[in-house]
Amino acid sequence: MTKLQVAGFLDNSLSNGPGIRAVLFVAGCNHNCIGCHNKAMQDFGYGEEVPIVHILDRIKNNVPVIRGVTLSGGEPFEQAENLGKLARFIKNEGLDVWCYTGYTYEYIIDYLDKFKGWRDLLNNIDVLVDGKFEEDKASENLKYKGSSNQRIIDVKASILSQEVMLFENI
Ligand code: SF4
Repeated sequence: MTKLQVAGFLDNSLSNGPGIRAVLFVAGCNHNCIGCHNKAMQDFGYGEEVPIVHILDRIKNNVPVIRGVTLSGGEPFEQAENLGKLARFIKNEGLDVWCYTGYTYEYIIDYLDKFKGWRDLLNNIDVLVDGKFEEDKASENLKYKGSSNQRIIDVKASILSQEVMLFENI
């Protein structure tokens, strides 16, 4: 059974992307950002192992209240293989997928076929908020991101044009 190490789950959130969204926090992160807001979730053993079908059932129970699902953490790309499968199921439900990552978009593209599941996960993400949290660039006034170095990226448009295209529809 395909499982994820889950650090937390919100059924309805208004602050992790546009509209009402479910938010899945996966455990484990090596970025070690100074001022990390989810420090406990850096631990790869934090939380509990949950079958992705159970996560999907919980998400489906909340449709049509939610318009999408946000993947956060921790570092989602550390569990890319199984998270990519869940993201595909979520897309099949007609929901959009946002994902927060400490990696930059360019780094992910460079390593797309070097790390298991990265290509599949990226292909099932609509919007990627990329880059580490940088405390000296942090502001409360930034919409959907913690520091100004982070970018809100339209993944499909970026793949198509082979350059970073920002997501404008916020
Ligand atoms: S990427 Fe996120 S979870 Fe990981 S150390 Fe940075 S702020 Fe914390």
